[in-house]
Amino acid sequence: MYHQQYQIPFNKPFLTGKETDYIREAVASGKISGDGLFTARCQAFFEARYGFSKTLLTTSCTDALEMCALLLNIKSGDEVIMPSFTFVSAANAFLLRGARLVFADSSPQHPNIDETQLESLITPRTRAIVLVHYGGMACNMNAIQQIAHRHGLTIIEDAAHATDARYCPPNETPQYLGGIGSLATFSFHETKNVMAGEGGLLVINDSALRSRAEIIREKGTNRAAFFRNEVAKYQWVDIGSSFLPSELIAAFLYAQLEQISVIQQKRIAIWQHYHQYLQQLPRYGVALPQMPSYAECNGHLYYIVCRSATERDQLIAYLKTHSIYTAFHYQSLHQSPFFQPLHDGRPLPYADLYSDRLLRLPLYYELELNSVEKICALMEQFYAS
Ligand SMILES: *Cc1c(COP(=O)(O)O)cnc(C)c1O
Repeated sequence: MYHQQYQIPFNKPFLTGKETDYIREAVASGKISGDGLFTARCQAFFEARYGFSKTLLTTSCTDALEMCALLLNIKSGDEVIMPSFTFVSAANAFLLRGARLVFADSSPQHPNIDETQLESLITPRTRAIVLVHYGGMACNMNAIQQIAHRHGLTIIEDAAHATDARYCPPNETPQYLGGIGSLATFSFHETKNVMAGEGGLLVINDSALRSRAEIIREKGTNRAAFFRNEVAKYQWVDIGSSFLPSELIAAFLYAQLEQISVIQQKRIAIWQHYHQYLQQLPRYGVALPQMPSYAECNGHLYYIVCRSATERDQLIAYLKTHSIYTAFHYQSLHQSPFFQPLHDGRPLPYADLYSDRLLRLPLYYELELNSVEKICALMEQFYAS
């Protein structure tokens, strides 16, 4: 998503300046395949900053989600619940293992899963719930964990948007997103807060899944244990695939991670600027993000919810005439050309509402605050006319 021909594109990948230095360093070291120094540095960064007990760098968030399905031994007949308003990666990961996908609706207040409807979707065959913290906004984790515990279900957090975001229930210690479910996944695709072009991370919070995660990531071999001198030779011990990125990706990512505080501060400032300058829009029937009290903003994306799909198209076109590129987001998976014939027919009105009416505004590190003000002024002009 470049659209760089616009004065204000939707996204512009930010480079800290150290990426190519570190890539050169990785090349010069002679260790260019995976699990070298930079991979170890990236993983140590996540473990230290967020308290994740075990992390593994992967080639994408999609790969990390596929690892989750393998790790949980998902098989034909198992059911997995996930929101319909999300990216297709989680759906594919579990479908590839033969699971039946049970799509959940979004909340009327925000695009996250509506946890009040979760229990009605659970059957004796349900194995797992995949959560997406949309825009880095935490799902209602206490409520969801209680339901999962009651029914013996595994929680997987698709935290692709949620780097550096926290779940902050009142009177409880805040927790970093990605550290709550048994497993969690992050993405470093170039549209995310910290990025490496492509890249991902698997977080293994359930220690029982640790050693097998290493094996699955290394083509089903115990290569990682071999290099730690824990086994005499490395062998094929389980199913697996190749999920580890080269050191070139890790080197790039590490340059970004070193600057994460600066990146986050800037993105959050832009988010708050939009929120402040768009306060007049609700009087025209447009909804702004409503952050639940337990969710902390990480400045991943800023969205509004228009009154109709037609109005959204008109607003996109209007902003384009001013050389500003805005973008809608996910299209409900239960209505997709591929899955619609397989869906059980339940209407999911809020997933459809966000598919049809949600609009994301430009948000990237180099976006100037006066550009944000200009975008907000134009939007108000659009609605006032
Ligand atoms: C970006 C994204 C993914 C996919 O990430 P990749 O690293 O591109 O595989 C998965 N889920 C969500 C919610 C995303 O936003």
